Amino acid sequence: MRPTGKLHLGHLLGALKNWTALQESYQCIFSIADWHALMSEYENSKDLRGYGIDMAIDWIACGIDPEKSILYLQSDVPEHLELQMFLSCLTPLGWLERNPTYKEQLREITSRDLQTYAFLGYPVLQAADILLYKADAVPIGEDQLPHLELCREIARRFNSIYKKEVFNDCKAILTETPRLLGLDNRKMSKSYGNTINLSDTEAEVEKKVVSMITDPKRLRKSDPGHPEECNVYSYYQVFAPQEAPEAHEWCSKALKGCVDCKKNLSKHINKDLEPIREKRAQLEKNKDKIEDILKEGAVKAKVIAQKTMLEVRQAVY
Ligand code: SF4
Repeated sequence: MRPTGKLHLGHLLGALKNWTALQESYQCIFSIADWHALMSEYENSKDLRGYGIDMAIDWIACGIDPEKSILYLQSDVPEHLELQMFLSCLTPLGWLERNPTYKEQLREITSRDLQTYAFLGYPVLQAADILLYKADAVPIGEDQLPHLELCREIARRFNSIYKKEVFNDCKAILTETPRLLGLDNRKMSKSYGNTINLSDTEAEVEKKVVSMITDPKRLRKSDPGHPEECNVYSYYQVFAPQEAPEAHEWCSKALKGCVDCKKNLSKHINKDLEPIREKRAQLEKNKDKIEDILKEGAVKAKVIAQKTMLEVRQAVY
């Protein structure tokens, strides 16, 4: 995960809940991908280390357990870059230029100049991130499948050129995650300023929920609403599924107004966030400990990474 700012509900539902569960059945390695963040934030690089620490705090507060899993900062393990170099040499330019996410991001992110050599090659660094640990599986969303396929292609090309099975095929662990839109009905993203953050206070959550866009056809409290067309209702399905049928009824029969409906929703979101907030507050008091956890994680990651790099160098030379 790239540390580019505060984590929000989208991260919690789209990744962290799933990762926390995976710790029970896999040896997990979680990387705070600060070099990936640098590719887009190279002009604001001073904040990245702090964002990395904040990210570790959020992860641990959400249940990532440093006793069970390895968590570390990517830039503490330089082997990522060494492997990227080897893989870059054999990755055809066309594979990178065809990457649909690359084109999409160039189109959508206009506040930064992403027409750089590093950004074009970010899938190669992603491949290195996976292959360095000879991962059996990566938990991803369907939209990331092309990246994993590219990683597999690169691994096969390496094995084929150097006639050695250094890298195995890595499978995707596809998980159904509820799609949560931002407050303004666009994708939830820091750059759109439409997020509910894991570190938001109760009052901030309430204020943000009240600002959410609702069913545009419900102009007055007496107008029946269309819950399926309202983002607030989709939040009910995620944060208060037991109350969603009731919300459907009060909305479609105009029994309750949108402000009440939203205030009620914010209570449910706050209830879910409360334990995370509490743990977060404790962890924030001791950032040195978080630094230590990341350092220890990097040491463990390096043991695996160095072993792989030895095999890579032996295959190449
Ligand atoms: Fe949306 Fe609730 Fe208003 Fe219905 S009552 S339109 S679900 S905010």
